[in-house]
Amino acid sequence: MIKLQSVENRLRVVKTKLSRARRNVIIQENQVRTLQNALDAKKEEIQLAKVQSDRLELELRSTDEVINKLRAALNTAKTNKGYAALLTEMNTRKADNSKTEEQALELLKDIEDDEQECQIIENQIEQQKQKLEETRKETEQSAAKYQSEIEEIEFEWQQAAEHIPQENLKIFKRVAETYDGEALAIIEQRDSRPQTYTCGGCFMGITAESVNLLMTKDDIIRCPNCTRILILQESKG
Ligand SMILES: [Zn+2]
Repeated sequence: MIKLQSVENRLRVVKTKLSRARRNVIIQENQVRTLQNALDAKKEEIQLAKVQSDRLELELRSTDEVINKLRAALNTAKTNKGYAALLTEMNTRKADNSKTEEQALELLKDIEDDEQECQIIENQIEQQKQKLEETRKETEQSAAKYQSEIEEIEFEWQQAAEHIPQENLKIFKRVAETYDGEALAIIEQRDSRPQTYTCGGCFMGITAESVNLLMTKDDIIRCPNCTRILILQESKG
């Protein structure tokens, strides 16, 4: 069973490497997606700003028409009072229009900035995609290598498991799942008190009776606290 534990440990190491390599690809895929989302959001912003800009342009043009009409009316004004009223109206419209013009210019500047930002993000996406492709290729190679290592170790695992009774093998697998592969725990003896034993996995006390049983019988003994399969330090089983 100690042999099985060491094979199990190696198996888990390689499986961890494999999943880490695969996770690396997923992380980079997510980075591309995040950038893509940022780009989409930016483009939508630009779209909205353009609609706004068109609206301002329209407003400017229609106010220009009004101003032209007012200017024409000025020439045909019959009284000073009427003339003054038209002039005030025209100047108010002109002031409005110059405000709108400022807004429109600012908006165009924003659109330009956003378009530049889009360009930057697009470049980042391109770089990230290239990096992702490289990582993908590397991962394919290393995954194939890990996969064949796993197969070899799994074969060793089966060999090591051959001599272990089915019932014990089930327990081993179950405990290994619980403790990330660590199914066995060494019984530790405290130097100060010769008859006091503890589980090397959880450090709870183990009765001398259990230890005696383990030394005299072939059956497996498990820690009553953490359920790990207990082994003696010098045991070769
Ligand atoms: Zn324990």
